[in-house]
Amino acid sequence: MEPLTDLLGLFAEAHALSGYEDQVRDLLAQELKPLVNDLSVDKLGNVIGIRKGTGPTVMVAAHMDEIGFMVSHVDSDGFLRFVPVGGWFAQTALSQRVLIHTADGKSVAGVIGSRPPHMMEAEDRKKVVKLKDMFIDCGATSAEDALEMGVHVGAPVTVDRDLRPLGGKLVTGKALDNRAGCVVMLGALRLLKDQDLKATVQAVGTVQEEVGLKGARTSAYGLSPDVAIATDVTIPGDHPGVTQSESAVTVGKGPVITIMDAGGRGVITPRSVLSWLKEAAEQGSLPYQLQVGDAGNTDATAIHITKTGIPCGVVSIPARYIHSPVEVLSLEDLENGASLLAAAIQSAHKHF
Ligand SMILES: [Zn+2]
Repeated sequence: MEPLTDLLGLFAEAHALSGYEDQVRDLLAQELKPLVNDLSVDKLGNVIGIRKGTGPTVMVAAHMDEIGFMVSHVDSDGFLRFVPVGGWFAQTALSQRVLIHTADGKSVAGVIGSRPPHMMEAEDRKKVVKLKDMFIDCGATSAEDALEMGVHVGAPVTVDRDLRPLGGKLVTGKALDNRAGCVVMLGALRLLKDQDLKATVQAVGTVQEEVGLKGARTSAYGLSPDVAIATDVTIPGDHPGVTQSESAVTVGKGPVITIMDAGGRGVITPRSVLSWLKEAAEQGSLPYQLQVGDAGNTDATAIHITKTGIPCGVVSIPARYIHSPVEVLSLEDLENGASLLAAAIQSAHKHF
């Protein structure tokens, strides 16, 4: 079995715009298969693996989708206009290489261009170029030519970027939000493979988190778990441009247990869930960090207010520069995140 590093590469280099999660869903299904008793895909496209055990049902949710774009217009010269899907900061999208995904499952390379800075007025050069003023050049010379290449209105577009090691235990790549979460979930199930489970695990790869937590909502409704954990990435405060007073979390210091996110508009983790997760980390001698956040939320936001309410927490991996093509995380945090999740699953029966 490949270590989590290789698994992260496999997942981060797969392409899954919100609503077009097929590649990651197939990959996740393939990796889940030997680890679960039952595997299915629901009507919205969530992939659900059930590993049976005694005790409570524990849902684990990791969103499969990534931010990207959708082709909205192909002009007569073969240039493409697009609509952003998910939260983009325009400055990080410019000058990127992208892949335009065709209906036959292949992809066409492209680059995101704009008016040359040399031609801009001095004032305009100081401003961020707006996404609506960018376009994709895929080498097509006309709308007909683009169509022949398989590029059409509605084609999903994602960033073209490999996973690369940095110094220490850090790696950089696209879509670590949230392939990190997918890998943490798989890593936990691998650790539990030969153990008698004291909970039934409902491992869910959710769809369309980046555009409204949609898959989490429907899958939580369908599964109705006793307790749930969303696994995702979170923003650290450990690099220039941000301070520890804004985010006390640091890359490499362990997975993060959320106390509250989005100033309480996301999730306010129930005390029962908090003490369960903290105890799991402490008893396993695993490093962890606590976070009180004012920005950003996860699938937990939707899960915890499903039906009559589902106690739900978040275990996240600190990742720098999220929602950019050069996200950075620590492989050690990833391994410890998987261990924390596994320990939590094996102790859920004492708490729920
Ligand atoms: Zn995410």
